[in-house]
Amino acid sequence: MKIGLFFGSFNPIHTGHLILAQSALNMTDLDRVWFVVSPQNPFKKKKNLLSEYDRYTMVEMAVRDNDQFLASNIEFSLPKPSYTIDTLTYLADRYRSYEFSLIMGQDNLTHLHKWKNYEAILKYYRIFVYPRGGEEAHELLEHENVTLFEAPLLDISATFIRQTIQNGNSVRYLVPEVVNEYIEGQGIYR
Ligand code: ATP
Repeated sequence: MKIGLFFGSFNPIHTGHLILAQSALNMTDLDRVWFVVSPQNPFKKKKNLLSEYDRYTMVEMAVRDNDQFLASNIEFSLPKPSYTIDTLTYLADRYRSYEFSLIMGQDNLTHLHKWKNYEAILKYYRIFVYPRGGEEAHELLEHENVTLFEAPLLDISATFIRQTIQNGNSVRYLVPEVVNEYIEGQGIYR
């Protein structure tokens, strides 16, 4: 089974994330996408970052009706701050028969050389990249483990969603209906 890991703070998860994940399944040989929710970094308490529990709950609700999507809170119990290479190593060891790879925007690929043990990531894991941020071609796109795939990108971000709510407006259709109901019910981001 080939699993693509899509990391994010998902504060909150939105339709852009979901369209992207579905495109990854459509355009690559991946069988599943796991949405890996980033934990709170205890050293960087970010204003506006909702609790791990709420962010994970919303991801779980958003992906529940799709057999090929899974919400993962695996990083909550790993040492913090979490480094992608450590999470990959942990998962590869725990799920021996699965093949893990990364899904990331081209904007992130540009910064990959700053990640912990990025050479090991590139050597042992495939990376599926989607165009984002209008970047120029990047040399890493030539790497044998890096594959570019096309995806329709919705120009929305979690920041925009939080601002919309703060302004007293609706985020219906920007997030799945169940997530919208959760946000309204819990009164979050107001
Ligand atoms: P924020 O606005 O709070 O920074 P975000 O919407 O960018 O949040 P993250 O949870 O940080 O969301 O995103 C997880 C991953 O999804 C990141 O790699 C990010 O680049 C990507 N992503 C975010 N929004 C979109 C979108 N509209 N289309 C495709 N990918 C997206």
